[in-house]
Amino acid sequence: MTKTICQHSGKLPEETMDFLRGIAADYAKVKTAVYERCSGIGSVERINHIYDIQTEMRNCGLRQQLRLPVAYYEMAIVEAVANIKSMWSKIKDRIREAIRNRDNLTDAECRYIRTVLKLDQVFAAVLQRRAYEMPRNVSEEDLDIGRLNNLIRRLVRRYVAKPKIRSTTQFKVIPAGYKYKNGGLYLVSRVPRRRICLPLKDTQTSTRQIRICIKEDSVDIHIFRDVEIHEDESRKGTIYIYIGYRDALTLSNGHVYGQELNKLVSPETERLSAKNAERSKIRHVMEQSAMAGDYRKAGRMEANNLGRKKYEEQKRRVRERTQNYINAELNRMLAEEKPERIVITRTGTVSRKKSSAKELNRRLTRSFGGYIRRRLEEKCRIHGIELLTISSKDTASICSQCGKQGARTSREFHCGHCGFRTTAARNTARNIEKKAISAGT
Ligand SMILES: [Zn+2]
Repeated sequence: MTKTICQHSGKLPEETMDFLRGIAADYAKVKTAVYERCSGIGSVERINHIYDIQTEMRNCGLRQQLRLPVAYYEMAIVEAVANIKSMWSKIKDRIREAIRNRDNLTDAECRYIRTVLKLDQVFAAVLQRRAYEMPRNVSEEDLDIGRLNNLIRRLVRRYVAKPKIRSTTQFKVIPAGYKYKNGGLYLVSRVPRRRICLPLKDTQTSTRQIRICIKEDSVDIHIFRDVEIHEDESRKGTIYIYIGYRDALTLSNGHVYGQELNKLVSPETERLSAKNAERSKIRHVMEQSAMAGDYRKAGRMEANNLGRKKYEEQKRRVRERTQNYINAELNRMLAEEKPERIVITRTGTVSRKKSSAKELNRRLTRSFGGYIRRRLEEKCRIHGIELLTISSKDTASICSQCGKQGARTSREFHCGHCGFRTTAARNTARNIEKKAISAGT
């Protein structure tokens, strides 16, 4: 199990920041090039042969054109290939999930699809409409292969989400690309034998790949360590958790952790939406000035009023405070509940609604939903806790007591059939429990 340690550099000169931004931008270009070449269905099989891709990328001339040192170039290729692989494994997971809930597929048909997903050569052939040798365990059966292959292709098209460059402010470095000296980290530069120094605030070092995350006038350095998994004999039983936007974690046993997470986010949301309204008003006046030909006024307004620096800084502070709260509550939950297994739902698709303050608030807390899941996953790995995810279908509006349709507001749940009354979150958590148990997980 790998743990990430975050180190901070001191304040860096603008020249160094420029160098780092330049490397990050080129790093993103290399990843984009790999995505363009290798993320299509034509490369399903090839993506497992990273050496071929590395060779191709070494010979394509991009590195020379960018003048990017090998330490970054090679790392960008490796990272891009890993992202493409994870894209494919996510698509396959979603297909497995989709066929599980289909009534119009027989067991034998499901088995065929699962086999295709397992064998990359066959999977590639199906996607590329090539002939292939039927896998041994299905060849005997009387299946409508054409229909099943069409279904596989259709589901791939539905679930495909090509990897994208999400950030151009970070990059990784291979071990040969850095060294430690006199309390600083020295990175390979574009000039041979010249290294760029990043002074460090602590003395931890790494011998593996590291990640550089560029901030305003400094960097965070992520180093990776193996940690041992702590098996704890006293862990027992399973807990079922609903991850919500009001309270972070509601358990089917009624316990709540991360209570009123929304209140932590709420004042910030109101401030942000007021600020947004103000900014768009200023922008409007500015555009009017520009259209009227008064570029100096427009430029002045932009410089004085639309600076994002302070705005981003405040956002960052709220985010950090909220994340600290979430982490502390996750730890408290694991210590108090001592579960052996945890069941949560997979993330659903988010509907795109118009942005009201309330909706913005939900979106913000929802983005913390992703954070909660990631941290929970990591903590489960460290503690050797099994984490299972099930689909959230039919967990929200059905009564967890009698199974009929109930009435639900954002906070409360009430069943008109049996009179059951509880919080909406608790009802969902109880449904997750029922569903997981009846599915035999
Ligand atoms: Zn009921």
